[in-house]
Amino acid sequence: MTIYAAERLVTPHEVLAPGWFRVDGDRITEVGAGSPAETAERLDGWVLPGFVDMHVHGGGGASFTTGDPEQARRAAAFHRRHGTTTMLASLVTAPPEQLLAAVRELVPLVADGTLAGVHLEGPFLAEARCGAHDPELLLEPDGELLDDLLRAGCGTVRMVTVAPERPGGMDLIKKLAAADLVAAVGHSDATFDVAAEAFRAGATVATHLFNGMPPLHHRKPGVVGAALHHPAAVVELINDGVHLHPAVVAGVFAQVGSERVALVTDAMSAAGAGDGEYELGGQRVRVANGVARIAATGSIAGSTLTMDAAVRAAVAAGVSVVDASRAASGTPARAIGLVDRGEIAAGQRADLVVLDDDLQVRRVARGGRWQ
Ligand SMILES: [Zn+2]
Repeated sequence: MTIYAAERLVTPHEVLAPGWFRVDGDRITEVGAGSPAETAERLDGWVLPGFVDMHVHGGGGASFTTGDPEQARRAAAFHRRHGTTTMLASLVTAPPEQLLAAVRELVPLVADGTLAGVHLEGPFLAEARCGAHDPELLLEPDGELLDDLLRAGCGTVRMVTVAPERPGGMDLIKKLAAADLVAAVGHSDATFDVAAEAFRAGATVATHLFNGMPPLHHRKPGVVGAALHHPAAVVELINDGVHLHPAVVAGVFAQVGSERVALVTDAMSAAGAGDGEYELGGQRVRVANGVARIAATGSIAGSTLTMDAAVRAAVAAGVSVVDASRAASGTPARAIGLVDRGEIAAGQRADLVVLDDDLQVRRVARGGRWQ
């Protein structure tokens, strides 16, 4: 058992400055305002719940995409150093055999807790909004292929991004919802009506809102308008200053609240690995000044973002630390069905990130153990 005295403790609804909490084993068992009565270990700066990244393809020069376990562990370790204590491995569109193999390969990493699950970002996407996905490899939503992928994953596939306007898209969303899996709308050209129907049919997430979909138009609000309008949809934001303007990020927080915003990195292997040439889903990616673009088309590929930087950018955009923290932890945790983490509250897993006054990562704990 350890008691921690935090200079600024970020709880779900306020900052306790100072605050304290108690960790027994891997759990937080008590939280309080002020200074603890017993001797405590001091934590300077901000103490936040560990970050939950529900959309990440890789980092630190390594990628989840092929399922290679050594690479996947390296990518996960890179993001852990940046405060991410829970992550889904996002797989970009690939031929079915390759996707099935990657999903199979990642099963042990979910079993040992390195990953919280797998997110299939494709292949059931719209060609017109394919972004960094190889348009040649996109497929119509196919329940049988989905079943094969779910079977290959033995329960590790948590989320699937679908373009609902493609034939079979709506059925696939219903199938995912019925299986208690997360259906996300993304890389989609859907109209407002079709996207709204998808959210009514059980989709609960919008994959990187604004990116991979038509821009918000006041007479044609499309996927963006439908996601913001639906009272329960969680919207992912890639808050790296490249994919979204800070004013748009602040505006989304103001409109829907941090209960419905999930900060994600959508990071590729290049995150933390410097400028140069990389590969994503079989396509060449060129990274210059930290911005990743598909070499052939110039389309923005994944990001080189980390969750700590996403939180700093949210605060710089005018979002409070409490709201930025919720969008980086509690909201994404709930969005992917994890209720045991994401908040500094009694009963939650002791996943912690300590940030200095400039919100740079100082220390990270996972299940009560400092990394
Ligand atoms: Zn994407």
